[in-house]
Amino acid sequence: MTDSNEDCIFCRIVEGEIPSRTVYETDGALAFLDANPLAPGHTLVIPTAHHQHLQDLDGHSAHVLYETLHDLVPVVEDAVDADGSNVAFNNGSAAGQEVPHVHGHIVPRFENDGGSPIHAIAGERPELSDAELDDIADAIAERTE
Ligand code: AMP
Ligand code: ZN
Repeated sequence: MTDSNEDCIFCRIVEGEIPSRTVYETDGALAFLDANPLAPGHTLVIPTAHHQHLQDLDGHSAHVLYETLHDLVPVVEDAVDADGSNVAFNNGSAAGQEVPHVHGHIVPRFENDGGSPIHAIAGERPELSDAELDDIADAIAERTE
């Protein structure tokens, strides 16, 4: 793992090698408008160091990334007079991640904009028994110990 990956389009934005509509920069995070916006104000927030997955970030980078999202959400909503926003990460190619550099999407939402809630992202809902739910909860909980 290196801080910058020359094949990564977002690293090239961090390095200033390709243009972006940068809206905010901190020590460790950068935010710029999505080039193909889902809504006016659609903004991407990235750690400046190259990592593909959220779980690849160390605690400090994760903190800076979340703090930047936290700071920007109300600012972006206000700038485009949005009624709300979806804030989400496509984490891994199976989840639809196309650019392999961690990025949080801030997608402003408007009453009656015709969009969907985040529940619309997954495929068919699984039918899980109580026992299966218990097993899954245990599997997650025991890994956090
Ligand atoms: P994802 O599917 O989560 O990897 O989304 C990648 C996002 O990056 C898409 O919404 C693209 O529109 C956006 N994108 C790709 N290249 C650029 C770029 N050069 N500047 C700004 N946004 C970009
Ligand atoms: Zn990168």
